Amino acid sequence: MAVRNLLKELMRFKTVAQNPQQLKAIIDFVEDYLSPVGLRLRRYERNGKHSLVATFRDTKNPEIFFAGHLDVVDAPDEMFEPKEEGNIIRGRGAFDMKGPSAVLIELFRELAAEGKDYDLGLMLTTDEEVGSRDGVEYLLKEEGYSSKFAIIPDGGDNFRIINREKGALHFRVWAEGKAAHGSRVWDGVNAIDLIIDFYNDLSLIFPTEPCGIPDHWHNTINIGKIQGGTKVNIVPDYCEAHIDIRFVEPWTVESMKKQVEASLTKFPGLQYEVMSYGEAIYVPEENPYLRDYRDVATGVLGREVQFDKEHGATDGRFFAEKGIPVIITNAIGGGIHSPDEWVDVESLETLRRIFRAFVEKVAP
Ligand SMILES: [Zn+2]
Repeated sequence: MAVRNLLKELMRFKTVAQNPQQLKAIIDFVEDYLSPVGLRLRRYERNGKHSLVATFRDTKNPEIFFAGHLDVVDAPDEMFEPKEEGNIIRGRGAFDMKGPSAVLIELFRELAAEGKDYDLGLMLTTDEEVGSRDGVEYLLKEEGYSSKFAIIPDGGDNFRIINREKGALHFRVWAEGKAAHGSRVWDGVNAIDLIIDFYNDLSLIFPTEPCGIPDHWHNTINIGKIQGGTKVNIVPDYCEAHIDIRFVEPWTVESMKKQVEASLTKFPGLQYEVMSYGEAIYVPEENPYLRDYRDVATGVLGREVQFDKEHGATDGRFFAEKGIPVIITNAIGGGIHSPDEWVDVESLETLRRIFRAFVEKVAP
């Protein structure tokens, strides 16, 4: 099947988080589609999220893993009927990421049908838009999947190669103070003041905006939520804040936690708890897989391909956490999570040619 037709089939599944039967149905569909060609297919289901892993060989550790997700963010029903305008397909999931997933599914089907026995794996999951806990994170951490290199076509549009991505540390911090009347503050301990003092102390290591650095490739901090106090004339005895730190390599989750803890110890009465985290991605430009990928992409496209970086996180963070070099790259499209999501179908075919040339080079 051409990528175009498979993409249209995939888009008609309304695979949003609140439709578990559709998450199962799309994985059933892909499993049926791939099963005649002799790939090894493994099914997983955890907390109602279905996944499929395809490999050519009997291994959980192929040389290269590709990963794609088949869930999408919610949209009006009409966005689940693909609209074709020549080379463009519009609708939910066209670019994020049923288009690139269709590329991967077709690539694996085509290679297997030709009798190839490449050392490759494909991971297809259905919970990326809600955090990947039961998909990629589960498969890598609990099921023991691994690889020497990974590619995720979920970012880096127009074939840019994303080899750096910021890491994230989200935590909540809370302070217990002592209530008192607002006219006798010396009798109390103001919990909001404690949080503010902690935040100001921790913020000292982050550049303040405007920072003057055009690409903002630096650590950042944001209080996303703060809650505390009841009345103007009461010293608050409790305050809680949710803080979002983004960091660049060589910072890690562990070193950033140590930094948070160093500030916390200065303010007795504060406690914190990590809500979620993700390691930063950094694949050095001399990595042989990365070099080969760039050479192949340059050859197929007939132009220079740039390395680039992204501030937001992808499923790549779970590969990075396992020390697996991972890159993010994609075809041409846009409007993800918006009413105008679209993909250029010809560019999907180009992406398939790049991936095919890459795997023929590195994973035979
Ligand atoms: Zn900045």
